[in-house]
Amino acid sequence: MEQRGMGQPEGVTAPSCDQHRLMMMSTSDTPTELRGVFHAETIVVGGGIVGCAIAFELASRGQEVLLVEQSEIAGGTSSAAAGMLAADSEDFAHPILAQAAYDSRELLHKQKDQISALTDMDVGLRRSGFITPFRSYSDLSQYKDKRNASSDSGQHWWDRSKVQREVAWLNRETYGAYYKPLESEVLPVSLTRAYARSAQMMGARIWEGVQDVRLLVNNDRVRGITTAKGEITCKHVIVAAGLQGDLLMHQVGVTLPSSPVKGEMIAIRFPAEQTAYRPDRTVYAEDVYIVPKANGEVWIGATSLPGRKDHSVSANCVQRLLGAASYWVPGIKEADFLRAWAGVRPSTPDGIPYIGRCGQITGLYAAYGHFRNGILLSAITGRWIADMLEGKSAEEIGIEALSPDRMNRRGVML
Ligand SMILES: Cc1cc2nc3c(=O)[nH]c(=O)nc-3n(C[C@H](O)[C@H](O)[C@H](O)COP(=O)(O)OP(=O)(O)OC[C@H]3O[C@@H](n4cnc5c(N)ncnc54)[C@H](O)[C@@H]3O)c2cc1C
Repeated sequence: MEQRGMGQPEGVTAPSCDQHRLMMMSTSDTPTELRGVFHAETIVVGGGIVGCAIAFELASRGQEVLLVEQSEIAGGTSSAAAGMLAADSEDFAHPILAQAAYDSRELLHKQKDQISALTDMDVGLRRSGFITPFRSYSDLSQYKDKRNASSDSGQHWWDRSKVQREVAWLNRETYGAYYKPLESEVLPVSLTRAYARSAQMMGARIWEGVQDVRLLVNNDRVRGITTAKGEITCKHVIVAAGLQGDLLMHQVGVTLPSSPVKGEMIAIRFPAEQTAYRPDRTVYAEDVYIVPKANGEVWIGATSLPGRKDHSVSANCVQRLLGAASYWVPGIKEADFLRAWAGVRPSTPDGIPYIGRCGQITGLYAAYGHFRNGILLSAITGRWIADMLEGKSAEEIGIEALSPDRMNRRGVML
């Protein structure tokens, strides 16, 4: 069994890793050494989906931006995601996030054309709708009790006979299902790279392999960053470093804790003669999700292991995920196993990402802690950060609840 800590082959029209690096370097070489004083108006630290979406939005507004990534674009958690844009299906820790999820999903659909015009890259974004199936009336009642009625407006109830007509590949014993037609999914690595490439096409500089990044702060004001290649001055720094965001913040006395929640996933493929049994839309069940992807694979996830940072995949996880998935889609038993991988979600103490200004230090912004929904929330995060850099306050945008300043100096919520 192939076990991948990070990076899944997605292969629609996204370039391979090596091609991608070459493409990145062709317009914006990562310098081997910085001579003299180097300056950028805004520096984004972190080349995952969040950092790349921010760079994309800033560049599209004509702002000068440099993104620095310690390894490679989409080398972190973003490479492990299922890529669901599950705005109508996920439970969100705050009503603002529920609305933001919806807005972000729609924004991503709008950005798709701009991205493809700039880069010719296909990010595998599709709006096929999700199905949430139930074994029994009692399972349905429990689900309804847990959900907030307003979050269920975009869904249709399908009884057993409708389910059997519409999705013949689903377990025929299914009691009924909600169909959520607006739900979408994307290839996360392709989207991350496409954001970076588009940003670059609009003038952003994207530097990979930048080691030893530290924030440079003087008199409670951001002055820039130091790196193994030298120093770069700037006006704003956006920390979009996912799980490692708290380490960077800690260096300058800002406590915005994040904690790891490991997730394991598997990929399968249906042989040509079995395609009638292949799901053509995402199954988002209580115990498992099954996501048919634009590259022909079907991704199944995911476990949730708080406190775990390693990238190993247990046999137990593979067995459990395959067991749950083949209950809902029996044809999965005949599919080919491709690979399994694990990634680590960046969580926060209250389940809400840190997005916005860090009041203690002028010019310092946080954009991390997106937990289970960083792919979904990437587009709106980029827009919010760009709005703030243009002078809007969190109050004006309506996102005070996401402000890093909700934590005190010890990382305890105020
Ligand atoms: C199994 C699994 C399934 C998931 N499924 C979904 C899903 O279906 N939909 C969804 O919306 N979300 C999903 N997620 C969550 C999603 O993957 C994350 O929320 C998202 O990837 C976080 O993105 P990020 O850019 O904040 O972090 P990352 O992708 O980790 O990017 C951070 C980057 O910062 C870089 N970095 C860190 N420190 C430094 C430094 N000091 N200097 C320079 N660079 C630095 C890292 O190298 C990394 O590349 C899933 C996650 C997992 C694990």
